[in-house]
Order: sequence, then C-alpha cells, then structure tokens
Amino acid sequence: MKGVFPLGKFKETDTPFYYYDTDLLRATLRTINTEAGKHEGFCVHYAVKANANPKLLNIICQAGLGADCVSGGEIQAALNAGFPNDKIVFAGVGKSDWEINLALDKNIFCFNVESVPELDVINELACKKGKVARVAFRINPNVGAHTHANITTGLAENKFGIAMEDMESVIGKAVSMENVKFIGLHFHIGSQILDMGDFAALCNRINELQKQLEAHHVEIENINVGGGLGIDYTHPNKVPMPDFKAYFDTYARHLKLRKGQTLHFELGRSVVGQCGSLISKVLYVKKGTAKQFAIIDAGMTDLIRPALYQAYHKIENISSDCTMQTYDVVGPICESSDVFAKAIDLNECHRGDFVAIRSAGAYGEIMASGYNCRILPKGYIAEDMR
Ligand SMILES: *Cc1c(COP(=O)(O)O)cnc(C)c1O
Repeated sequence: MKGVFPLGKFKETDTPFYYYDTDLLRATLRTINTEAGKHEGFCVHYAVKANANPKLLNIICQAGLGADCVSGGEIQAALNAGFPNDKIVFAGVGKSDWEINLALDKNIFCFNVESVPELDVINELACKKGKVARVAFRINPNVGAHTHANITTGLAENKFGIAMEDMESVIGKAVSMENVKFIGLHFHIGSQILDMGDFAALCNRINELQKQLEAHHVEIENINVGGGLGIDYTHPNKVPMPDFKAYFDTYARHLKLRKGQTLHFELGRSVVGQCGSLISKVLYVKKGTAKQFAIIDAGMTDLIRPALYQAYHKIENISSDCTMQTYDVVGPICESSDVFAKAIDLNECHRGDFVAIRSAGAYGEIMASGYNCRILPKGYIAEDMR
C-alpha cells in the first residue's frame, strides 16, 4: 500500500519540499483531545521543537493544545501562531538572559528549570522586573527508555534535569526566594518510546517522589511528564496514528494524581510525525557492479535523521507502478552518511520520478540546514496544493 499524494500539483512545485497531510494532522489532534479528555486534569502541550512550521502551529493551536518551547525563538513562534501566553512552558538546560527576559515579559505559564544556577538567574531577572516567575523543576528520574541512545534523556548520565537526591534542597531554595514560585515537577525520559512499560516506570518513580515530598509537606500543583510517545516508521499507511488511548490510559492507571493536580503532557513526534513526507525527485539511476543507486535531489540537509540517528524512513516511488527493484537511496551532499536507505525495494525508478520519504513530519523540516549552500526545503500543507 502506498500513500496518496496530489501528484499533479507536485509537478508544478520545485523539489525537494515537505508535504503535510493536514487531514491526518487534524484527525490526530481530535484523537488526542478525545483520549486525554477522558481523564480529569490531563492537559496536553505540543513540543514546538518537533516542527515549527507556522501553518502547522496554527492548526495545533486551534485544537487547544498548549506549547512546550525550548528557546526564545520557539516562544516567539508559538505566540505568533496564536498560542496564549498562559499555555506556554519553557524548558532547556541553557536558557540565555534574553530568553528568560522574553518569557518574563510575556508572562508565560511556567519555566521548567534544570539547575540551581539557572534558578538563581531567573530569580534575579524576575526581581529586576518586579515579577514572580512560576517554576517547575525538571527532575532526572533515572529511568531508562528503550530507544536510541542519542534520544534517551532520563538517565543519570544525561545532561538534563536535577538529580533526585538534590530535589528537596532545590525546592527548599525556591520556596525561600522572593521572585520565583514553585508550582510543580517536570520529567521527560526520551523520545520514540513505544513500550508503555517505560511510561509506567516513570509513573512509579513519580509516585515515590510524591510520597517523599508529601512527608515534607511540599505541595505539588502540576506534574509534567514530557513527551516521547513514538510512531510506527515502518507502517505509515497502516498505522497513521500512535495508540493515544493506551498512552493516556497508562498514565491514568499508574500515576496516582492527587485531588486538584494537573498532569501535563508535551507531545511532539506523535502529533506531527506521520502527517509529513519529504517529497523529492529522482535525478539519476546509477548502476554499480553489485548494486544500483537512486540518486535523489533531497539530501541529509533536508532530513538529517537517517544520517544522525540511523533512523529508518519508509520510502515510496509515488510516480511508478513498475516492478520492484532494489536500490540504495542517496542524496547529493558531499558526505558518505548522506544515505536515506540501503538495499530497499522500490517500484523501478526513472529520472524525474517522485519519491516520498514518509513519517518525516517531526524533526525533519525544522532540522534542515544550509550545508553545501543548499536552499532550505519549503513546507506545503494539503490546502496549498488544492
Ligand atoms: C523533545 C521534548 C519533548 C517532545 O518529545 P517527543 O519525543 O517529540 O514527543 C517534550 N518535552 C521536552 C522537555 C523535550 O525536550
């Protein structure tokens, strides 16, 4: 089974470009709202770093999600797209002063603080403005996730968050400060997680922490469990949406929320991953002695995930119904890692055929670079092609 694309319109458009199936995006957002809405106190944010295309941000904002930002630029992008300031949270290990000042000026909902020196700076900058910054602490729960080593974040060895043993003293410090208000705990254990057991393990750890803090009469209004839900890169047509029901049910079953607590989620990949494809044209078919290459006009500058994480993306020749042949699909960049797939079957390729690199909606367009003086790929939504 192949995806369905407006080929006629593609022929009028310069490749490579991203194409977003906004019907699928909207259906995904409806499912998220339905499944999260079944549980009291669940609140979903979108992790802007997965894809900050303004048209997508606008659709996501209209669905009522909040925005999880990791830079001042993302805060600005979220505000421009219409996200209300009181639904914006700001995470990241290295917040600069201008970014903190921007977040203070815009009165965002919460800073997710990752270290004591950062807390000191937020307190100081808030003081200068005569403001009180709401802060949550990102705790490193030391929970491993069954995913690629480059994208696990919740282990003691990772740079993210505050160690559990320091948690109480850091909260004590915040409570004693005049210009910050402690409002909750934040976690994020990694990305592309498909084993619900990993999320259950996080819940168990949070339950322990809550008990420990309650014994010291620390009250927690908000718990933020981050994102990390994975998508099916192998079957984008058969499984166009992750199992949001199982995901939210896992938290509802395992996390012991107290009365009045809000549980925040920050989903990135699972919201936008499957709706995006990188569309490229076959430039040349080159036959080697042992193999043949489909050389396409998209490269690692347009989609870096295969080169960076050895990530798999399904590739389809959407112009051809010829019999299958085996190809290495490679880009034009002067790097040996500029390979999208090795020894995959595609309908026989000819110069000018369109190929779709699927499941590229998350960490695709946003990570594009201008290496080799390449032009950044444009992003089109289905509405642009009607
Ligand atoms: C990257 C990130 C997310 C989103 O992760 P996904 O795997 O795309 O869902 C959420 N929260 C934080 C703090 C992040 O850094």
